[in-house]
Amino acid sequence: MNQQIIDAHIHLDLYKTEDREVILHDLDKYSINSLISVSKNYQSSLANLKLYENNNKVKPAIGFHPEQSLPSEEELGDLLQLLENKHDQIVAVGEVGLPYYVKQEKKQLPLKPYMELLEAFIVQAAKLDKPIILHAIYEHTAIVCDLLEKHTIKKAHFHWYKGDKKSIERLARNGYFVSITPDIFYKERTEKLVRQFPIEQLMVETDGPWPFVGIFTSKMTHPKMIHQTMRKIACIKRLNLLETYELLFNNTQAFFNLDSF
Ligand SMILES: [Zn+2]
Repeated sequence: MNQQIIDAHIHLDLYKTEDREVILHDLDKYSINSLISVSKNYQSSLANLKLYENNNKVKPAIGFHPEQSLPSEEELGDLLQLLENKHDQIVAVGEVGLPYYVKQEKKQLPLKPYMELLEAFIVQAAKLDKPIILHAIYEHTAIVCDLLEKHTIKKAHFHWYKGDKKSIERLARNGYFVSITPDIFYKERTEKLVRQFPIEQLMVETDGPWPFVGIFTSKMTHPKMIHQTMRKIACIKRLNLLETYELLFNNTQAFFNLDSF
């Protein structure tokens, strides 16, 4: 297998040690060129920086996942400082965004403090000239797009994106990127997204260790699954498989500036 792939969104630090070792050991075997390893909080950011120190195929991003309680002022200060200090060791700001699922369960949760938190990361991304990796789906898309436009952010990646036709069109028009997970094998809406979105703005990811179902039930989420996703995308876009590999590899490499990293 020599078609190179990049996992554009994985939480490598959240795997069990033995599973992470399997993945890192398998990188060459499955032509996995690099892993964009996003962070959940401050500790997770430190863990991803450490993983990069030990293996430069791991490309860290620093951020605070929105589907949890807000960080303390101290933690946010530490995160913003870490971004400044380590800007030459990270490829992006992320994972950041808005809490969709938590808010589904707790309707009264105020969104405003999360928007302010996100804006602090957006300002930092603009200042450091880094791409931003977003967890922002459905009706949160418009709020996040407004914030990105306010700060003239050009490089935004909406990972595992879910949204209506209008939102999808706005992301495409703004030149933002979306990434496709293995759920394309069992989610009609993911297949539709691939059909609607320009191939020049697509990437592929696993969001591992998040588990998948269907043909992936009870399998550890491994970046090698992307090879299956790639065949599915080629088929939907009616493209030659090699061409699909090349396009998505180049998209991801350019988006995260990996050739100069
Ligand atoms: Zn994630």
